[in-house]
Amino acid sequence: MPKTRPAASETGDPLLLTPGPLTTSVSVKQAMVHDWGSRDAEFLRINEMVLDRIVELAGGQGTHVTVPVQGSGTFAVEAMITSFVPKTGKLLVLINGAYGQRARKIAEIADRAVITYETPEDTPPDTARLEALLAGDKAITHVFAVHCETTSGILNPIGEIAALVAKLGRRLLVDSMSAFGALEIDARKVHYDALAASSNKCLEGVPGLGFVICRNEALAQCKGNATTLVLDLYDQAQNFAKTGQYRFTPPIHVIVALGKAIEEHTAEGGVAGRGKRYRENAKVLIDGMRAMGFRTLLPEKLQAPIIVTFHMPTDTKFVFQRFYDGLKDRGYVIYPGKLTVADSFRMGCIGRLYPEHMKGALAAVREVLDELRVSNGGPALTSEQAAAE
Ligand SMILES: *Cc1c(COP(=O)(O)O)cnc(C)c1O
Repeated sequence: MPKTRPAASETGDPLLLTPGPLTTSVSVKQAMVHDWGSRDAEFLRINEMVLDRIVELAGGQGTHVTVPVQGSGTFAVEAMITSFVPKTGKLLVLINGAYGQRARKIAEIADRAVITYETPEDTPPDTARLEALLAGDKAITHVFAVHCETTSGILNPIGEIAALVAKLGRRLLVDSMSAFGALEIDARKVHYDALAASSNKCLEGVPGLGFVICRNEALAQCKGNATTLVLDLYDQAQNFAKTGQYRFTPPIHVIVALGKAIEEHTAEGGVAGRGKRYRENAKVLIDGMRAMGFRTLLPEKLQAPIIVTFHMPTDTKFVFQRFYDGLKDRGYVIYPGKLTVADSFRMGCIGRLYPEHMKGALAAVREVLDELRVSNGGPALTSEQAAAE
């Protein structure tokens, strides 16, 4: 039997230390206990507020527009790529994890010319190499980059990438799904044509709405690019401009909950406040796990305070499924790794989680390790690593 009391989620549900869906506040969930018609004036007011607030968070007032997409985050990424890259375009996808791979697949299915620049999951793209690639292939019209690659938790140098892409006269599409709302990306400083994110990552709404922040001038050139009806951002935006409404049934409850979540985001101090809490969560988690011998995949300077990848312990008594189940029984859900560079697991820092929740998770990790008779969470160090420590 678990010794620690169940995690202090406000509803008694296990806390989700995962990259999404995430733990949300009770008040966000409570915002959903009503029904609204899709033409209800109150709903449309909330929807407009949500879309406007997102543009403000992006620093895009007057220059950018938020185009919502019903569905999960990937629907927004697919809408972004297929609406922005024209049939005659060519997309360079920067890959260092599963979400970059996914973008390549989207472009291929949409029959867009696509090339990739892939680095290992613990390595950001090299900007000199990117510059050479762009200079050497004039056919490349667009570059796709992931802000925080959630596969590992790595922070890619999005500002440098954006500056380079702009310098060489190409267009940038950003997947900032797991960063937007917590890590600053200000459209006045970071030049992009479009940036995709969703309701259920750092904004802490419930899942069900993706959105793309589009530079107005770039979106205006997207007519006829789309490969599907439902993911046509140009058409979706046109319809909003004309009627203020969605073309197809909107996820009303999700949007109203997102309105509440954005209120709470503002109350916490916006992007800076949200980012500060996540950085505290990450610090408590990393320090505590290291104290038990676990090793992070990434060095500090590449680690985003979003999700942390730990190497799998090498002690043969450590069985991941038992570790996972033991934590789940104690009220904490973690996430398996899906890296090719290392056997690993992940623990997230985002969602309605506070440092005391991370401390609770650490206490649960300690108990489960004791149960498994694993004294140290570390992989054996290579002699090189040992010398460096
Ligand atoms: C979560 C996430 C997505 C979208 O995933 P969905 O499961 O479709 O919501 C896309 N990119 C990144 C980097 C993500 O973290």
